[in-house]
Amino acid sequence: MRIILAGPPGAGKGTQAAWLVRRFRIPHLSTGELLRAAVEQGTALGRRAGGFMKAGQLVPDPLMVPLVLERLRELGPNAGFILDGFPRTRAQAETLDTALAERRLPLDAALLIEIPDQLSIERISGRRIDPATGIIYHAQFNPPPSDLAAGVVQRQDDTVPAVTARLAQYHAEEAFLVPFYEQLGLLRRVDGSGTPEEVSRRITVALGKADA
Ligand code: AMP
Repeated sequence: MRIILAGPPGAGKGTQAAWLVRRFRIPHLSTGELLRAAVEQGTALGRRAGGFMKAGQLVPDPLMVPLVLERLRELGPNAGFILDGFPRTRAQAETLDTALAERRLPLDAALLIEIPDQLSIERISGRRIDPATGIIYHAQFNPPPSDLAAGVVQRQDDTVPAVTARLAQYHAEEAFLVPFYEQLGLLRRVDGSGTPEEVSRRITVALGKADA
């Protein structure tokens, strides 16, 4: 199974990717996570990408495209994957399409998890992460246990101004991603509201795996 996962900030891409990894036993390739690791490790890529990320802007294609192509080259024949956060520009989509065709790794689906902007802002601006475990909480909807509350942190791009910028950016991406994957017959829209389990069930149906 080879899947592209897209959706606005807070749509639950990370949660659903973790579920898809367990469900289909395929690796999760998240460009946001790769970039955050690079920033944390202070690599050359991290130093160049950090400012764009903090402002909620896209990291330029000349930095992004080689990063993903390098990861794709590491995949064996018939490999499955969940590509989360890529492509986000037309150039990225076209490069990916060519790279996958060359390697005979056709996509099965481009999953678009959709939520209203207001829900995106509510979910993201309240998001808190335990840096020790990576567990994600929400300040109102799923607060951390009291002994962990003082240690949880907010991602620098999860503030209201940064989320607003990321949402505007997302809508620009959506405007070309939707027709691009619709034309290839790969687009699967999924309602991202409700519990993670409800969304996973909708994804199972959208992938045509309800009986598998
Ligand atoms: P995400 O975790 O997917 O929300 O990504 C966090 C941030 O990483 C984004 O706001 C961008 O700054 C950067 N980023 C992730 N994926 C890409 C991409 N495909 N192209 C450009 N920038 C990206």
